[in-house]
Amino acid sequence: MKLREIHSKTILSVSKIYDYVINPYVGCQHACTYCYARFMKKFSGHSEPWGEFVDVKINSADLLQVEITRKRKGTVWVSGVCDPYQPLEAKYQLTRRCLKILVSHNWPVVIQTRSPLVLRDMDILKKAVNMEVGFSITTADDSIRELFEPHAPSITDRLRALEELHNSGIRTYAMIAPLLPGAEALAEALEGKVDYILVDRMNYHYADWIYRKYGLEDKLSDDSFYRVSRKIALMCRKSGMDCRIVF
Ligand code: SF4
Repeated sequence: MKLREIHSKTILSVSKIYDYVINPYVGCQHACTYCYARFMKKFSGHSEPWGEFVDVKINSADLLQVEITRKRKGTVWVSGVCDPYQPLEAKYQLTRRCLKILVSHNWPVVIQTRSPLVLRDMDILKKAVNMEVGFSITTADDSIRELFEPHAPSITDRLRALEELHNSGIRTYAMIAPLLPGAEALAEALEGKVDYILVDRMNYHYADWIYRKYGLEDKLSDDSFYRVSRKIALMCRKSGMDCRIVF
């Protein structure tokens, strides 16, 4: 994997999803096959396959320290086009340092990850006045997860991490997106671990070849997405969980 330490010009960027977004890394070691963030290759000048390069913005926290005093307070999404807790974060601690700054200024934060490494920062999360931690979980079937997200943590580990966060009093959510085969069982698995669930279908075509390779084409149809999302919504209603279908 090609690793580069870089100095970024800015870190607190305006976002269409929340007010701001922070991406301490360009590239993502999780290398999910369907990842829409691979468009970053074009902007960062990388020719390596998605997942085989990461630029580490080593000045992220220093930039944030200054930018946070110059911008109007708003909700910050951590992160949009990388996993803020990909394995390199264990060494670089950029997400951790940025979180510390955001929390010390009482800025609302929404973390989105696939990694239990977020538990390392429980000390900061617990101090926050406005913090949500979301896990992207796309299927309940780990053999399906291995096909689409071979380098991301297992579903069991993500569920355990969500449970620990939720039991610690931190607001949690699960992002079931993209809705992969085997997602039906997630509503039950998430019970008691999250405050709400978001469901979105597969909107990109990067992973179509996997559906074809494993004879899963029928799961890519509009019918299949609607059927599975309705099933999840119904199970959530029965158990009183807030479930939002966003497609
Ligand atoms: S964890 Fe997120 S950013 Fe990283 S490869 Fe997977 S979908 Fe893309």
